[in-house]
Order: sequence, then C-alpha cells, then structure tokens
Amino acid sequence: MQIATCIGCGCDDHQACPLGCWWLRVDYKKGKGVCSECEEHVKTWDSNEPSLDKVKDSGPIHYWFGLTYSSYLVLPRSILQSMPIEWQRKFVDLLEEAQEIVCQPNDNYTVLLKDKKGKFVKDPFRNYRYPPPMPWKEKI
Ligand SMILES: [Zn+2]
Ligand SMILES: [Zn+2]
Repeated sequence: MQIATCIGCGCDDHQACPLGCWWLRVDYKKGKGVCSECEEHVKTWDSNEPSLDKVKDSGPIHYWFGLTYSSYLVLPRSILQSMPIEWQRKFVDLLEEAQEIVCQPNDNYTVLLKDKKGKFVKDPFRNYRYPPPMPWKEKI
C-alpha cells in the first residue's frame, strides 16, 4: 500500500494524529492528502494553491535555524514573559495563528540543559516563577 502525508500536519497512513484522523482528501499518486484534523487545508487543496510543505525546506524559519541541526526551538517562559507587552502580543498572535493551521502535536516534552561539553547542568530557567536575572543585551 502506498502512503500519503497530510499537507497540514504531516501525519500519514501509518501515523495518524494523536486523537485519530481520516482522509478528507487524498491523492496516493502524489502521496499527499488532507486529514480530518486539518480541515482548514481543504480549501488550499481544492484550489490547488501551492501547499505549505513546499516552503518547509527553504523558508525563513529554515534559514533562521542556519547551520544548526536543531529540531526544536526552546524558549524559556520567563524570558517570553519579560519581553515588552507589544512583543508578547505579537508573539501570542503568531502562536494562535499557527495553532489554526497545524494540528496540535503531542508536545509533552522535557527540556534538559547541557553545557558545551555535553554534561547536564542546572537550568536557571527551569522554574518560571523564580526567574534568574534576565540576560538582556541592553536595558529595556
Ligand atoms: Zn493533518
Ligand atoms: Zn492527521
């Protein structure tokens, strides 16, 4: 059996979304589809607009990560909460926008900090209620 991958969230025939899903649209020749968790992508699919996955490997985020092999962006909550309100508003808007586009993945991660030699070290940001002095580049 061929498999298709959802253009919205990347789930496929072997790995459905966490809550389960089915194909609303699927094209096994192209290996692509839109799953039931990504209904908002049906419009894109039906209108034949270039799908999101075309920009995955060449978009601004890809270049922002640069030469790192990081698969994640980890941001301490205490830093986010210490940013100017206007910045926080924009950030939250973007997060909400992303949540409208992408199925919520299982994000039950644990973050552990290592030093440059790869040894686990105490994370100064581990408790957002007791943040360390903020590492600002200049006074804000
Ligand atoms: Zn999907
Ligand atoms: Zn799915």
